[in-house]
Amino acid sequence: MAKLDAQTVVTEQAFDYEVDRFADLQILRYQVPGFERLPLKRKLLLYHLSEAALAGRDILFDQHGFYNLLLRRLLEAIYIYYIGDRQSASFRALETYLKRVWFASGIHHHYAEDKFVPEFSAEYLKSCVMSLDPKQIPLHDRMSAGELLDLIVPILFDSKVMPKRTDQSGDRDHVQHSSVNFYGSGLSETEVNRFYEQLKTADDETPVSFGLNSRLVKENGSLKEIVWKTDGMYSAAIVRIVEELKEAESYADDEDQKNVIAQLASFYQSGDLDAFDQYSISWVKDTASKDDFVNGFIETYSDPLGRKGSWESTVYYVDEEATKRTRLIASEAQWFEDHSPVDPSFRKSQVKGISARAITMVMLGGDCYPATPIGINLPNSEWIRRDYGSKSVTIENITEAYDKASAGNGFMEEFIGSDKERDLLKRYGYITDNLHTDLHECLGHGSGQLLPGVQQDALGAYGSTLEEARADLFGLYYLADFKMLQLGLLPDAEAYKAGYYKYMMNGLLTQLVRIEKGKDLEEAHMRNRQLIARWVYEKGLKDEVVVIVRKEGKSFVVINDYEALRRLFGALLGEVQRIKSEGDYEAGKNLVEKYGTIVDKALRDEMAERYESLHLAPYKGFVNPRMELKKNAKDEIVDVTLDYTEGYTEQMLRYSRDYSFLPTINS
Ligand code: ZN
Repeated sequence: MAKLDAQTVVTEQAFDYEVDRFADLQILRYQVPGFERLPLKRKLLLYHLSEAALAGRDILFDQHGFYNLLLRRLLEAIYIYYIGDRQSASFRALETYLKRVWFASGIHHHYAEDKFVPEFSAEYLKSCVMSLDPKQIPLHDRMSAGELLDLIVPILFDSKVMPKRTDQSGDRDHVQHSSVNFYGSGLSETEVNRFYEQLKTADDETPVSFGLNSRLVKENGSLKEIVWKTDGMYSAAIVRIVEELKEAESYADDEDQKNVIAQLASFYQSGDLDAFDQYSISWVKDTASKDDFVNGFIETYSDPLGRKGSWESTVYYVDEEATKRTRLIASEAQWFEDHSPVDPSFRKSQVKGISARAITMVMLGGDCYPATPIGINLPNSEWIRRDYGSKSVTIENITEAYDKASAGNGFMEEFIGSDKERDLLKRYGYITDNLHTDLHECLGHGSGQLLPGVQQDALGAYGSTLEEARADLFGLYYLADFKMLQLGLLPDAEAYKAGYYKYMMNGLLTQLVRIEKGKDLEEAHMRNRQLIARWVYEKGLKDEVVVIVRKEGKSFVVINDYEALRRLFGALLGEVQRIKSEGDYEAGKNLVEKYGTIVDKALRDEMAERYESLHLAPYKGFVNPRMELKKNAKDEIVDVTLDYTEGYTEQMLRYSRDYSFLPTINS
């Protein structure tokens, strides 16, 4: 039985984790341990998959907003060619703005989704643009610099134009109020919903993910999808992705994987969603490959209606040592399902193939870059998960980079109430974090079932938040289970408390720092965390299970009864699973609106102040290593190497130069 040390063994070497810092962001880099020892064939597979991961970068910019590529290219032109005073406050502000646009793949905050407010004036922008050689300005063959400025100044500077990337608030038309480029102009939410409703067949047990890979537009009064494929929208980038996939095929680990890659390429060529499901099934079944990847239109969080897939890619290989942990969990999946604190009719009688691995990330692209997840569970199609299971990964080298980079930054001293809890987190924080991610990804998302006749999208705009809550609660509930000790996944009966404390502190207090002054919560993961923390806090209040105390004007979380807290997590899991299984939209909506949406403004301001005094950045992201082919004198490839010296701006400018395949305006 695997036994993991509470203290992760660290071989310290000089490695600079921090790369850059601006606005509310800290940019880190991650190491790829063991890459240099891989055989050349595997390195070449990873190389071509990585090229495919970078080739789709422009797609996400365009999905996030119709003018994003134009604005990025214009700002880059100024950044590269401007010969005026580059030290002025205005130029610095423009540089920061551009860095934020790179980070968010657009002009809206990657998390809060509000439009950035430039700290330079429209006048300054005009003077920069006018100073450029007209040939350096995007769209110069279609409009004059003056016309271009007329077009973009309101987009950048008018707070009423495109204020929100994805607007899921209140009872309004979420299609019209969102700036994402998934829907053409003039479409209403009702029209979109009606269009997709009529594509469904009532008794289809295996429906495709309608709308996943297309932009929906209205032409001459009728609705029409423009599909993202090699001869459709985003053609130029997709053609490049397919070329790299074809190269990768010849280096595949085995025949199964070769077939997986070939199926993805042919999906990109046909745009046929049935082909995507066939690919997803092959991808799920391929659990033997040491190297693996995600590449496609995957997550639907950015679509207010939860249909359109944002383009993303990750490339990674299995971390064999750490995978012993996730394998152990997955091998007990049925036990966890059978003992889960939900109504038995909502449990899966047979949990299908959960493949859980700890992995080493090699390349991040699209919606996973620079802000990256720490765990991934795919595919998203509910029936493929039901019939074929899912693959789940915990990203070991990314969590390690987070952990190392945060050591000694003062966070623990500031936000944790007492030495007892600080001690707890120092000893068990890292191990419970990783274990919670494993449980969330390998078991949480894969658990439970819908009752017959309940639609996958029955919870509408609240679906993402409730799904994350379900997975988190599953993880929280089992983190404290004796099973963790039996399996040797936690060293003792105290360890889980570190995970509980951190979760409650984050959900009730520290995550609020990410919210802009006066705003409420919108992002699904944040809503989920507050929903859980606020719900158990309220339900446990009369017994003081969890309290918020004030010391010297500062708020701290104190947990008085960890066992009662676990029971509350279990109770909420039961309710969230019921909502999902029954498709109870009203109950789901109430839960999210009541607990997961409204921000305690005073607490938020206090957190922001305390963060600021420590100079901590609320958000983090990563640059990739620079991957290069090494050739000998005869021009044969002899190695693939990784370089860790590239800066954030350098990397972004290189990507914009080498991986910018799409036209400035796409439709
Ligand atoms: Zn999740």
